[in-house]
Parts: sequence; C-alpha cells; structure tokens
Amino acid sequence: MNACIFCKIVAGQLPAHRVYEDEDVLAFMDINPINHGHVLIIPKVHYAELRSIPLATSTAVWEVVKKVEQAIWQTPGLSCEGTNILQNNGAAAGQDVFHAHFHVIPRLSGDGSRFRFKLVHSTDETRKEWAESIKNQMDAK
Ligand code: AMP
Ligand code: ZN
Repeated sequence: MNACIFCKIVAGQLPAHRVYEDEDVLAFMDINPINHGHVLIIPKVHYAELRSIPLATSTAVWEVVKKVEQAIWQTPGLSCEGTNILQNNGAAAGQDVFHAHFHVIPRLSGDGSRFRFKLVHSTDETRKEWAESIKNQMDAK
C-alpha cells in the first residue's frame, strides 16, 4: 500500500512523533490534534477498516489503546479530565485515512468540542426488531 500515509509512517518514510511501537502496533501523535495529547493507534499492517483486521491483531491494537488512554490521564500538563476513543469506518462515518486507526483524545471540561449526532426516531418495537436483525447476523457468522 504505497500511497497510504500511515503505511509510510510505519515504514519511516514520513515523519511522526512515536509514542509506542511493537511488532504489530504503532501509536503516534495526530498531526491535527483536537486537544494536546491526541494520539492515533494503528496496526502496522494495512487494513482499511476495523472489520478487516484479524481478531488477534485488533486485540493487540486495543491493548495499546488502553495503555495510551491510561497514560494520557496521568501525563502532567495535559490536565486530562476525560477521553474520547474514536474509530471511524467509511467515508460516511468521517474516515479520511483508509488505514484503520483508533483516536485517543484527551478532553477538558469546557474545551468546546462536541459531537453533533442527529438522532433518528425509534420506538421500543423498532429497537426490538433491529436487535433481532443484528443478533441474527451475528449468529450466522
Ligand atoms: P479519520 O477522520 O478518522 O480518518 O482521521 C484521520 C486522522 O489522521 C486525522 O485526525 C488527521 O489529523 C490524522 N493525520 C492525517 N495525516 C497525518 C500524519 N501525516 N501524521 C499524523 N496524523 C495524521
Ligand atoms: Zn496503510
């Protein structure tokens, strides 16, 4: 995946401020942070979206997400009061870089950032139906 900027970061062909690295996972600073301390965690192998990542690799990535998130709470100067773990899949969900990644974003009360999700109308009946549909899909795997 030569064109992928995150693959280039993994290969050392693009600069990044690395926070953590092992055989399978890399964590580095987001170039346009929502708050100071905004870190991205990626599998080193290129997978476009979460559902493409093999389970063992996604578990390894998640372990690093947990460690980075914990460190952010304790990093002097960040004054972390909360975190968002964000993971976008697909252009419709706002994914810009198609190498799967988790965002760990430190939050401060009053920092002004907000998710503006628009809610759909749902009833107990529609939620029951969707629960069954999704469950059936999971059972079919
Ligand atoms: P997403 O919208 O979830 O695909 O987020 C992509 C993220 O990658 C954005 O937060 C960008 O700021 C970040 N990003 C893009 N290019 C770079 C880069 N060269 N180094 C670090 N972060 C980057
Ligand atoms: Zn890539």
